[in-house]
Amino acid sequence: MMATSSVPPLGKLGAHVSAAGGIPNAIDRIRAIGGDCLQIFISSPRGWQKTTITDEQVAAFRAGVAEHDLTPVYIHALYLANIATSQAELRAKSIDALAHALTTADRIGAAGVIYHTGSKKDQDLSRAMANVVSALREILERSPGTSQLIIEGSAGQQGAVGSPFAELGQMHREVGSDRVKVCLDTCHMFQAGYDVRTTEAIDRTLAEFDREVGLAQLVVMHANDAKAELGRGLDRHENIGHGAIGKAGFQALLHHPSLRSLPWILEVPGFEGLGPDAENLEILRKLGA
Ligand SMILES: [Zn+2]
Ligand SMILES: [Zn+2]
Repeated sequence: MMATSSVPPLGKLGAHVSAAGGIPNAIDRIRAIGGDCLQIFISSPRGWQKTTITDEQVAAFRAGVAEHDLTPVYIHALYLANIATSQAELRAKSIDALAHALTTADRIGAAGVIYHTGSKKDQDLSRAMANVVSALREILERSPGTSQLIIEGSAGQQGAVGSPFAELGQMHREVGSDRVKVCLDTCHMFQAGYDVRTTEAIDRTLAEFDREVGLAQLVVMHANDAKAELGRGLDRHENIGHGAIGKAGFQALLHHPSLRSLPWILEVPGFEGLGPDAENLEILRKLGA
């Protein structure tokens, strides 16, 4: 009798879509490009102003997600938030924004909030890490629901904290909450120096992740090709198969048994320059088949 190799099923393939005009619009937008799950901003990511979400919008959004089987939903936090800072005002605003996002995640039925841990600027790393950990504890206290606070690994930019897996692991351990999870962005990890272009390279990269953080903490992938070569520290996303990671890289990533079944969220520029589109989803789906 022939042995059947057990390949885990491919996870949901989705995208970041606009929620402009109200969160129910995000349902139409993800369906229009053929995505199975989604990520949204709940207000402009480049401003501090909170957008009001009405109970009617919450009900319509939840109904749409259920009807079209679009779980998991993620909220991406503001780009302005920086919980690594020691500046009192920026820190307070960042904690407030993240606690609000986490509370909103529970309200709209989202799995969690994905955020960047920020920039240390001219502080030393240990101070910045301590700031991140105490901020995350405060955010969790202020939003005592069940949604997850998901750390996204950074792209190794100058001053960024949370690029090396060792830093992600330290944050995760020191906060000590089951609600803290991790998102890996293929572009960011590649820019931070983690090669993902072959199965062997992914094995090495994930062995380090497993040692430092634990693969069980990885709950979602951001699927983005990279404009720059390995280890350049540039957070510039490219359409799938058109960047330095390339088609073979994504084929290997989507077939890796530790990654394959996770939700994959596109944050690519799109072939029309309008953000994630049907064509990128199609490429991802073909490479994952
Ligand atoms: Zn992000
Ligand atoms: Zn990302």
